[in-house]
Amino acid sequence: MNGSLNQPVSVLIGIGEEKEKELNQIGLFTIADLFQHFPYRYENHEVLPIDQLRHDDRVTISGVIQTEPAVRFYGRKKSRMTVRLMVENILVTAVFFNRAFLKNRIKRGDTVTISGKWDKYKLTITVQDFKQGAPDPTKQLEPVYSTGGNVTVKQLRRFITSALAAYGEHIEESLPSSFLNTYKLPSRKESYKAIHRPANKEQLKHARRRLVYEELLLFQLKMQAFKRQERLSSKGCIHQFDEEKISAFIKELPFSLTHAQKRVVNEIMKDMKDPLKMNRLLQGDVGSGKTVVASITMYAAYLAKAQSALMVPTEILAEQHYQGMKELFKDTGVVISLLTGSTKGKARKEVNAAVESGDSHIVVGTHALIQEDVTFHNLGLVITDEQHRFGVEQRRVLRDKGYEPDVLFMTATPIPRTLAITVFGDMDVSIIDELPAGRKPIETYWVKHQMLERVLRFIHKEINQGRQAYVICPLIEESEKLDVQNAIDVHAQLQQYFTDKHVGLMHGRLSAEEKDQIMEAFSECKIHILVSTTVVEVGVNVPNATVMLIYDADRFGLSQLHQLRGRVGRGAHQSYCILLADPKGETGKERMQIMQETEDGFALSEKDLELRGPGDFFGSKQSGLPDFKIADVVHDYRALETARQDAASLIKSKDFWTAEEFQYLRNYLKQSGVLSGQKLD
Ligand code: ADP
Ligand code: MG
Repeated sequence: MNGSLNQPVSVLIGIGEEKEKELNQIGLFTIADLFQHFPYRYENHEVLPIDQLRHDDRVTISGVIQTEPAVRFYGRKKSRMTVRLMVENILVTAVFFNRAFLKNRIKRGDTVTISGKWDKYKLTITVQDFKQGAPDPTKQLEPVYSTGGNVTVKQLRRFITSALAAYGEHIEESLPSSFLNTYKLPSRKESYKAIHRPANKEQLKHARRRLVYEELLLFQLKMQAFKRQERLSSKGCIHQFDEEKISAFIKELPFSLTHAQKRVVNEIMKDMKDPLKMNRLLQGDVGSGKTVVASITMYAAYLAKAQSALMVPTEILAEQHYQGMKELFKDTGVVISLLTGSTKGKARKEVNAAVESGDSHIVVGTHALIQEDVTFHNLGLVITDEQHRFGVEQRRVLRDKGYEPDVLFMTATPIPRTLAITVFGDMDVSIIDELPAGRKPIETYWVKHQMLERVLRFIHKEINQGRQAYVICPLIEESEKLDVQNAIDVHAQLQQYFTDKHVGLMHGRLSAEEKDQIMEAFSECKIHILVSTTVVEVGVNVPNATVMLIYDADRFGLSQLHQLRGRVGRGAHQSYCILLADPKGETGKERMQIMQETEDGFALSEKDLELRGPGDFFGSKQSGLPDFKIADVVHDYRALETARQDAASLIKSKDFWTAEEFQYLRNYLKQSGVLSGQKLD
């Protein structure tokens, strides 16, 4: 913004010392702040034809007064005044409550404009807002601002209007004209004026479109410039490996890779060989085969004589990956170690020694792996499974230990792409969007609780055919204790029902050892039905389990339900997911229906985002999402994607770093600290 826009709000007529303080308290200091205090909604005073007005809506009509106002007083200070007016040849009654003081201002033959609640059957409007004269076309959409303290919305409207009148001309363009032309965006000046004082919906739409795009482009530029900067300044590591050997390894796998897996492997191999540090997010639906991609990546690191660490969120999962990889790497000479909180005493010493000397090439474990007294010989690659459970903190810990490894984050919680590129804008994203061939879709059914008996009979039948079942217990928000109690109750009930079967119980209060024992018994089919809280959510692989029964399924998010569902359907047999729920609201019903109809985790997570908002993906408190002034990642995802691509090509293009028209954008990067002290070209 032009310098004059940095003047304090008090330069405006009507803002004294007191008002200035109040404005400061709600974060408005300068003229520019006022301009960027965008309305969060608009009151619509658009005058519509009478037959388009909906019953009980707040509407605006305009007509000519036909009668003298009739006032009736009642109670103390209460009054009811009615007057008739002609609107499009229809006689309408306007009712004013407690506003008898208007009586003298209403004359037969006057044209008036009235907003209020419309009664379509009685042709009556209950007046909220009354104005003399015909409707003002420039005031059809009245902005509503967030406010606080003694500052009213009306005052804000006035201040912003006068700021626009006095300083509007000083608003400078920030986007190169080529962008404005390509996307047919209005100028910055017009957009600010229109967002606060829209002449009509069309104008408002374009103003908003422009401001959203500008905000997202600047945000993406910052993220990507930051990424570029970090890459240029860090040492990173070049992994030299023999691609022939990778190909041979892939050929030896018991299956051939899907196209998506191949594509993703190529993307990762390219990163590995590159001197820049890899910082990649690998997303793939449950069962899409991320683990094998991780294994190939670690094999490449091994060939390049670097150690790898694979971090997973639970001990069960660590154990499972460890066993799987031992099998996978058995003919390769790769030495694998397991390191979790339960690796103790002598075993721990041995593992630590092997990791430190470099005798161990791949270490699989929980985050104990990087937090404790573990020293690597040459850590070149870190892979984390379910990355959202590992914080930025752990990454910093690694760096503080002096490791600058390539990093690959894997997640089966399909974070909607829009959100991924927003929050992880500094990462590259690879997506496995294809399941291995021959997978039978899981049949999903939503049933009411009264059907439980039938469901249990069905499970009984499956078990008699040699299969197994998971039963997930109701989730009680923010209370692990109650969740555990639920699991214990359900377990007791099912034990009574399935007298001839083994019903196991699993919850977060058990020790790691106990959990392992139970999982082992389940995977050896010694337990037929596993009653559990959501601790089985992540990664567990028991191919013989074919039924997933979820109690009170409407309490879970769609993505979480999808994760749970992904525990079955891992073997050759037809699998089933049964959602037990009696949702009260429409959203709950809709969500159950979506689950029945959709198998695509990404589609589900986009839906989840729409229905529940982004908080769920990152914990409700710190959503981790940047605070946008006008953009909304859910609704503006197309603009976000466009902005991301534009930012990427800007950063790559030589013009951007030299041409005059990009001056503003470059300055923005400098001001936001991303390019401090760096030569721009
Ligand atoms: P994810 O970790 O993505 O949920 P996994 O890596 O556990 O998925 O893979 C699920 C199952 O599919 C495993 O049993 C794995 O061996 C198998 N699998 C992986 N890739 C393929 C493939 N291309 N073809 C057939 N089966 C595969
Ligand atoms: Mg997995």
